[in-house]
Amino acid sequence: MNRTGATVAVVGSLNMDIVVQAGRAPRLGETILGEAVHFIPGGKGANQAVAATRLGARSAMVGAVGRDSFGQMLRKSLIDQGVDDSGVRTSESETTGVASILLAEGDNSIIVVPGANGGLTPADVEGNRGLIEEADVLLLQLEIPMEAVEAAACLGRQAGKKVILNPAPARELPAGLLSDIDVITPNQSELELLTGISLDGEGLKAAMERLLERGAGRVVTTLGEDGTAILEPGADWIRLSGHRVKAVDTTGAGDAFNAGLACALAEGRTLPEAAAFANKAAALAVTRLGAQAGMPTREEVEGFQQ
Ligand code: AMP
Repeated sequence: MNRTGATVAVVGSLNMDIVVQAGRAPRLGETILGEAVHFIPGGKGANQAVAATRLGARSAMVGAVGRDSFGQMLRKSLIDQGVDDSGVRTSESETTGVASILLAEGDNSIIVVPGANGGLTPADVEGNRGLIEEADVLLLQLEIPMEAVEAAACLGRQAGKKVILNPAPARELPAGLLSDIDVITPNQSELELLTGISLDGEGLKAAMERLLERGAGRVVTTLGEDGTAILEPGADWIRLSGHRVKAVDTTGAGDAFNAGLACALAEGRTLPEAAAFANKAAALAVTRLGAQAGMPTREEVEGFQQ
């Protein structure tokens, strides 16, 4: 691995994804036989931490798992990928977060039980202040309690770090959070929910401007296969088109994008340069199955020509 010296701290979720494949979904009260089951390490926080190491950064994870075998497996998967897991607490009272995913007839239905992720506190964040202070970039998502997100953003800002908020899954944000955020990275539906502005016509730019007005430093909106849009104060907005690839599994696209953005910003690149790097990393991720397993390496991103 070609390490760059850049460091990314992630405060976020770890889940075990239990993926059950069946020919069809059972009706209420019915038992059917399934075809296969897969245990796949996931959670947006862990996915982004793993992706960041694959993209060449050092990364450290702050989060929580339960004292159970899933917790051990998730911790091992971080360590195997070179992520510093010293900020992952083992909860004595809560189980490891689980996403139960039923794949049937080309569709999926998902139940997420946050477990230990839901018990992450501002004190957990404070207890790992050193990991955040050592990092160049702090990367946050919304699969942990909002108080923990707010505490992390505040600490990151006070420590002079670039703080990236990937506002996924979409939730209302408390007043004041955005002023601690350097770059917010919604996808289209998250941007609509956060601003109440429909993205038709001129709506995309207007919605991104709304987030700047509310205090965010800069806005990068991901647009699926259409790529990304970038808005920085005092600059013209920029559209980067998506790379043409054969999409196989888009679940890890947002995680790959955010990790790529974090790595490149941690290396001191400009926001448009970082978004271009992230756009390539995410395009490569959608060509493969599995969120963590599908994350590309730095060499693959640098060798990706189009
Ligand atoms: P999304 O969360 O769907 O907006 O996707 C995040 C990022 O992944 C986008 O900004 C693109 O860089 C990339 N991406 C997602 N879907 C595709 C696709 N079908 N083809 C190429 N790139 C994609």
